[in-house]
Amino acid sequence: MGSSTAELHIFFLPLLTPGYMIPMLDLSVLISARGVRSTIITTPSNADFLRLSLSDHNNPNIHLLIISENSLHQPENLTSLPTPDVTPDFFDSLCRLESHVENLLLTHRPDCIISDIFYPWTTALAKRNGIPRIVFHGISYFALTVMNVISLLDLYDSVSTSDELFLIPGLPHPIKMTRSQLPQIISSPSEFTTGFDASWEENYGMVMNTFYELEPAYADSFKSSGGVRSWHVGPVFFSRHSVDRGGVAKSEVFGWLDGKEAGSVLYVCFGSLPRFTAAQFQEIRAGLEAAGRPFVWVVREDPVAEGNVPVAGEGPIGFVIKGWAPQHAILKHQAVGAFLTHCGWNSCLEGIAAGVPMVTWPIFSDQQFNERLLVDVLGVGVGVGSMVNSMREEERTVVVAERVAAAVEAVMGGGQEADERRRKAREMKVAAAKAVEEGGSSEVELGRMVDALRALKMNRTKEVAVNGVTSADSEI
Ligand code: UDP
Repeated sequence: MGSSTAELHIFFLPLLTPGYMIPMLDLSVLISARGVRSTIITTPSNADFLRLSLSDHNNPNIHLLIISENSLHQPENLTSLPTPDVTPDFFDSLCRLESHVENLLLTHRPDCIISDIFYPWTTALAKRNGIPRIVFHGISYFALTVMNVISLLDLYDSVSTSDELFLIPGLPHPIKMTRSQLPQIISSPSEFTTGFDASWEENYGMVMNTFYELEPAYADSFKSSGGVRSWHVGPVFFSRHSVDRGGVAKSEVFGWLDGKEAGSVLYVCFGSLPRFTAAQFQEIRAGLEAAGRPFVWVVREDPVAEGNVPVAGEGPIGFVIKGWAPQHAILKHQAVGAFLTHCGWNSCLEGIAAGVPMVTWPIFSDQQFNERLLVDVLGVGVGVGSMVNSMREEERTVVVAERVAAAVEAVMGGGQEADERRRKAREMKVAAAKAVEEGGSSEVELGRMVDALRALKMNRTKEVAVNGVTSADSEI
């Protein structure tokens, strides 16, 4: 079952949540287009989501391998957890996949494994099987750099309260944040998350879903820091078909959008994970109504939303989608003029590639850093004033309707600043498309990564021919 001498075969192991499965699948599509056999590994209950997405591509070079049992002993997707409190258990349980992945690896003998940063155990797994591991890191160079700088500061000495703004030193741009906006991974790192760093240097490299022109200073400083080698190959979704994944109320929403003026609609979506309190839902609703712009508002399946969010479908000024929306396609519709986003990295990239300015409302994880990139570095966003980084909705301060309406007006209204934001957003859209064209920065980097893996395979093949074995310690 091992791959042939000529054909490169890569295992992809995405984290079990849409925000990581989608870009990893997109990456596998790009890589397979270069004649590489791609195998995506997942668990039983995530298989349909990936199958549906793969059916868009009909690519004979991409295969799905499903681990035969639910070895996690709990929901198999971050979006299915009953409460954010069990998130640490979910991450702990991921190591139960190790023996299954190793069995698949021994059966299918791929030449490389590209696995999410949340699977630190794949470093040792790859090493003992004599193949390189490439880490898939679903964040920006900017966020990585800021996290590295902040983790070296003693914030508890230098900043007296959690809501005091401090300047992050040594960055090319003046970036200010509060301690309350930092992700838990920095404020209280766990044994699990510190394990990421420890294993980094032992990996062959890291693949990043970003593009050079988006964050040149941060890409350069990361690459020249002497750490793990990295390739920026994004945005990886340009190969995605317009069919998109899911598609609740799809034809209706596009019919509705078709009837709107170009650039007049606000698209509102908080990604696949955040939950809100009833009070926050009411403020979002009142804020959108007060802003008075036509909107498409996506609300994930959520009992709290009932009664606090308008019914699904067309309303007086907005269209509400409950469940999964075809985000990528909606953002590209010419009626959409702005995006109110939770600043998940994929959503940021999708907004950038669509050329729309953004209203930023980060919730947790790296999203507060992404907000700073959009607002302070790229100049394409206006924040609603989200001050607390937390998955737990009751820990976040409620953003009132007036702030929502004001940020929407700042982004969608007239005036020099708003025009300038729209101009920069259009400029970034062009840069994103160029990066993935033939000869563009991301296209070239992807070629370099695949070439490097082919060269490694060739060396290993020669080594086997000479010594009769592959050394797990050879230069990978
Ligand atoms: N997404 C979508 N429809 C939805 C919600 C999310 O297509 O209703 C997609 C979105 O386009 C993006 C991904 O899911 O590609 C979410 O990733 P992101 O990093 O933005 O946020 P996360 O959900 O991981 O917080």
